[in-house]
Parts: sequence; structure tokens; C-alpha cells
Amino acid sequence: MTTQTQTAWPENVIARYLTVGGATVSIWDADQWTPAAAACAGCSASNEDGGANSSDPKRWAQSHAETCRAIPKPA
Ligand SMILES: [Zn+2]
Repeated sequence: MTTQTQTAWPENVIARYLTVGGATVSIWDADQWTPAAAACAGCSASNEDGGANSSDPKRWAQSHAETCRAIPKPA
């Protein structure tokens, strides 16, 4: 069985969380131009949208993954 978690990670992604819907929430490391950020591949939500834990990408990713039921798009 192939799942989305087994594909290569994009450059600068430092962590991924599997959502309850089977999508992934990725965290991109900060660089000199941008702060660390987290975004969900299932529903396109991002910590940059604001809301609870939005200032902490890791906490945002963890809590989003626990509640997001969006199914990932077929590759
Ligand atoms: Zn989501």
C-alpha cells in the first residue's frame, strides 16, 4: 500500500503530521526570508490563516492534524 507519507518530502519540510482524514500537514523550516510555517495538504489551511496556536507551527500542525478530515487529492 502506498500512502502520501511515503513520498519524498519537499525541500525544507522538517516535520509532517498525518491527519485523521489521511492528508498530511507539513512544517517548513524557517529561512532568512520567511518564518517557519505549517500547511495542510488536505484542506489548504495554514497557521498563517490565524487562530489557535497560529504563532507556533508545530502546535498548530499537531492540533490541525487531530481534527482535519479532508481527504488528500489524488496525485
Ligand atoms: Zn486540513
